[in-house]
Amino acid sequence: MNEFKMELNCTKKVQIIIGKCIKTGQLFGMRAEEFSPEIWSVTWAFPIKDKIAKNEGYDNTKISGFFNFTDTYPGCPHCGAKGSVLCRCGKTTCFDNDTTIGKCAWCNNQFNVAYNRLTMDVGSDR
Ligand SMILES: [Zn+2]
Ligand SMILES: [Zn+2]
Repeated sequence: MNEFKMELNCTKKVQIIIGKCIKTGQLFGMRAEEFSPEIWSVTWAFPIKDKIAKNEGYDNTKISGFFNFTDTYPGCPHCGAKGSVLCRCGKTTCFDNDTTIGKCAWCNNQFNVAYNRLTMDVGSDR
């Protein structure tokens, strides 16, 4: 039984999601852990350079499911915004909790943040 549990811990999936800051246009990475299938907790955010994101293949990461931002999530490392939303274009943008209408930093599309906030479906496969 113990061995089985250890194996589960070892295979816990961690993914880096790339977002773009709406205020500065700079990239940042978000660390998401899969707690149970399709349930992800976003625990951390950090600034990242375009080049590194590309080299590591982070910009191609495709994961899907429900996303929570933990209490310890520090917010966007560039502007401090506490959340992120996924745009229809498939990319993620930081946003402020104070606003309900967000704008995508990648494609300039406007969207309603209130709906998107808790269920962020990152990269649905087509
Ligand atoms: Zn930001
Ligand atoms: Zn977009």
